[in-house]
Amino acid sequence: MLERILDVLARGEIVIGDGAIGTTLQARGLTPGAMPEGWNLERPEEIRVMHQAYLDAGARFVTTNTFGGNRYRLAQAGLTERLAELNTAGVQLARETVEERAWVAASVGPTGQLLEPLGDLSVAQAEEAYAEQVVLLAEAGADLIKIETMNDLEEACCAIRMAKQHTALPISCTFAFDARGRTLMGTRAAEAAQRAVEAGADIVGANCGEGPTAVAVAILAMSAVTSVPLLAQANAGIPQADAHQQAHWDITPEQMGVHAHDFVSAGAQIVSGCCGTGPAHVAAIVAALRGVQLGPRTPARR
Ligand SMILES: [Zn+2]
Repeated sequence: MLERILDVLARGEIVIGDGAIGTTLQARGLTPGAMPEGWNLERPEEIRVMHQAYLDAGARFVTTNTFGGNRYRLAQAGLTERLAELNTAGVQLARETVEERAWVAASVGPTGQLLEPLGDLSVAQAEEAYAEQVVLLAEAGADLIKIETMNDLEEACCAIRMAKQHTALPISCTFAFDARGRTLMGTRAAEAAQRAVEAGADIVGANCGEGPTAVAVAILAMSAVTSVPLLAQANAGIPQADAHQQAHWDITPEQMGVHAHDFVSAGAQIVSGCCGTGPAHVAAIVAALRGVQLGPRTPARR
């Protein structure tokens, strides 16, 4: 039986997770722009191979291929009718692969819609969509609800509240920041962290956005205002397209290992990888952080 991730974090252990899903599947033939979630049903073996590679690299949690598994994102791909199936399969594929050797972190991404008054989506509609997804993920056996790449704090809080209300799972919420430490909507990292914790998040942090330096800046700002464990999930820089429209990421596994030290120094207790990272990045982070202890945090750690 797996120990609860929050208990492990409370002991002060550093936890390293997996790397990218979308860009990993693109490298295995997923058409750029196509929704990766479709592969949970069409190419399940590819998903298992990916989770296994991250487990072998030393990841203590693997993230499910369910980032776009809400009704608004799936509608854009004509996959609404398969919503339950896709989310359930995403968790099951991860669990079957890692069994009890790693936690299954159920990915929950943005709806892709703007909340009122900027857009047409009401808070009630956003909550309904998130409730629908998190219940499926929890029932399928996830260990953690991992809300990620959030730009809108209000939308993130909808997802957190629904995970809190409808599941008994620990909740992580990470936001994407630019180099100045703000989300696309202009929210500062410290405010995002505080509000997410108030809404019920057990873990907060930064993922994707403008690369490792932006992630480290955001983590440092969060660490000054909250004592919950912080998750740093950097992408391998900003992708450059080549002549064939293939994306290239310039941060090597070795460089990501160096950044991992910066994340922990800034206050991160959980380190994983976002777009452009793969098993080699995870292995480099594991090697770089072997024997590293958490630094002191202000305010005092819970
Ligand atoms: Zn990313």
